Amino acid sequence: MLKESDDLSWYARKAARACGTAPGAPPEPGQVERLRELLERLRAAGIKGEAKSMTLFTRRLPPGCKPCLSGRGTNLYVTGLCTRDCFFCFNQKPRKDELVVHGIPVKEPEEAAAIVERFDLRSVGLSGGEPLMFPERVLRLIASLRAMKSPPRIDLYTNGDRSDEHLLRALKATGLDSIRFDVVARDFDLAPVALAKTIFDEVAVEVPVVPEQLAALKKMCLELDRLGVPFLNIHELFLCAENEGRVLAKGETAKAGGESKHLLWRPTAQSLEACLELLLFALEHCRRLSVYLCSCGTQENISKRGYRRRKRLSESSRSA
Ligand code: SF4
Repeated sequence: MLKESDDLSWYARKAARACGTAPGAPPEPGQVERLRELLERLRAAGIKGEAKSMTLFTRRLPPGCKPCLSGRGTNLYVTGLCTRDCFFCFNQKPRKDELVVHGIPVKEPEEAAAIVERFDLRSVGLSGGEPLMFPERVLRLIASLRAMKSPPRIDLYTNGDRSDEHLLRALKATGLDSIRFDVVARDFDLAPVALAKTIFDEVAVEVPVVPEQLAALKKMCLELDRLGVPFLNIHELFLCAENEGRVLAKGETAKAGGESKHLLWRPTAQSLEACLELLLFALEHCRRLSVYLCSCGTQENISKRGYRRRKRLSESSRSA
């Protein structure tokens, strides 16, 4: 039987540290009109998705995002340790080496499969920290998830610092479906992405959109398109308890009214506009690359769906 303390305790612990101290900045003059105009241009250029929550994509959704959008995806936090120290990082400090599956701390990688099965989850994102600091742990996780009767889809999130060819081949052979690189963590170095593309059919890039980096992000889109990388996921730069001081020190401001009951973070005031500009650029200039905006609005919907599902399953498991 599932214990109450097992279930939502990890998220609750994180929620206790949620931010909300920075005052929100109202839209600067003209921003509302610019957003409206960008949306109109995106519509005319053929953007897909849903404008209300800003769940928008240029061509197709990455396969790993579909179960997640329906609330049947989960995060498998491989470790809190990392090789980098990005200013936008939302991970808890001081960093801790812990393995957490769907919000439930575990000791051994092989415990993950039972949790994924219990909550009937269909996609798992292995993340961190930098998961590839612990290659053996990652390979054991993938092997045990693959051995399930009905295995979920498995994506791995990495900054690419440790993704050498030998390890990439081992990940592929063990059953990893796709690998997603945060290239902003490595100052837009696409070498690890290009290497992974020679081994995996599905390679993606997933980055926060820092408005001041828009020119570099556009250049990156063209290069990813040239490399034949199928997916780029973008999200708004956001503030949370762990990064608030450093993000604000860069001159960013919190968006007024961006607080959420369901998320532990909130968007900055300028990032959405930069995201829409990048989507438009990709629609107009990329031939194959599909860009997907997983906005804070999207994440809020995912979080609500996942939380309700989780609560329902916990209650039925307690009454069984
Ligand atoms: S690479 Fe990812 S986990 Fe590591 S510091 Fe940067 S954002 Fe955080």
